[in-house]
Amino acid sequence: MDHSKVAEIEHGLTENALMFLRRSVGAMQNDPNGTDATENFTITQDVVFAIVDLAVAIEVLLKARVVREDWKLVCTKSARNKIPEQQLEALFLAGDAKTIFPQDAIELLENDFNIGLKTNGHDMRVRHVGELRNRAVHFTLNHGSLPIGVQAAYGSGLDFVLWFLRTEFLGSAGGVIENLIDSVMADIADRLSEINVVVKKQMASITDELDAAEECLECPRCHQGTLMCIEQEPVRCAFCLWDPVDGVAAALEYVHNVKELDEYTELTSGGEWPIGECVYCSELALVAGVVSQRELPHDAGALNCDGRVWPYWACFSCGRTAGYTEIERCTHCDTPTTTGDDGIPICDDCFANLVESD
Ligand SMILES: [Zn+2]
Ligand SMILES: [Zn+2]
Ligand SMILES: [Zn+2]
Repeated sequence: MDHSKVAEIEHGLTENALMFLRRSVGAMQNDPNGTDATENFTITQDVVFAIVDLAVAIEVLLKARVVREDWKLVCTKSARNKIPEQQLEALFLAGDAKTIFPQDAIELLENDFNIGLKTNGHDMRVRHVGELRNRAVHFTLNHGSLPIGVQAAYGSGLDFVLWFLRTEFLGSAGGVIENLIDSVMADIADRLSEINVVVKKQMASITDELDAAEECLECPRCHQGTLMCIEQEPVRCAFCLWDPVDGVAAALEYVHNVKELDEYTELTSGGEWPIGECVYCSELALVAGVVSQRELPHDAGALNCDGRVWPYWACFSCGRTAGYTEIERCTHCDTPTTTGDDGIPICDDCFANLVESD
């Protein structure tokens, strides 16, 4: 495919993405009465479409950027391997070729073309928009979370789009598209700053609640550092009000959406599945490798040696947390345990079996 054809395709894709973006930020206004739209935000059909449009726009923008490097890379590997180039080109131009997922595009741009998507955390923002889109199309946006959580996640997607347009498209698109990018970016920036104001306000209103919690983790729904661990209670989020009835399911959701792990990959790649039976409440909700979202006190490291133990373990059912060395894995069965024999961690069950067989 010659250069001008490739440029034409890239421009076409960029233009489409901008159309979806414009429709998305327009619908997200959600302002039927002309009142303060963002404050009175509710999840309507418009909001659902706005989220889907944003996800589509991101996908198309990523593809447009990949096309600039090599149009063939937008097609899936198996399509590239199986179909002769001329046919693939015909399929691609007709919009019938099987194309890659946003996550694949990110890997490509990051690893092969040195675009710092991961170092800037933008890969996560794209993932989060994908999660949000899935909840939108399954109509589960209202399940246990406040519209503010949806706005925050949508806002973080806009953050990515602004960065991506500015660093990868502005100045290289040229002509009419350049003007279009400018005006869509202005729309996005307006919407984003409105969302940021509400997010800040909500954050300010929950600081006392967060301070009172023993620990705060990243919420798998709104991705703010506002998932509270409070002893004797299942975890819940102060920001988006996600209040899972079931700690077991909540732990799974954290591992999927925050630690970005799934059972299949972990178990087939020999990794250690991070959820185990809780040493305190026996529920299958004890997560290993959690990351506290509490900030260090300002004078940390100076005189302040208050011996804070950073949590490594957190139970999503009973809200207890523990430092890395406070719980170990049984050397026989891998279950988290606090008991041992001569300094070697072994759970009560395995110890009993061992004694019996002696
Ligand atoms: Zn939340
Ligand atoms: Zn527990
Ligand atoms: Zn054991």
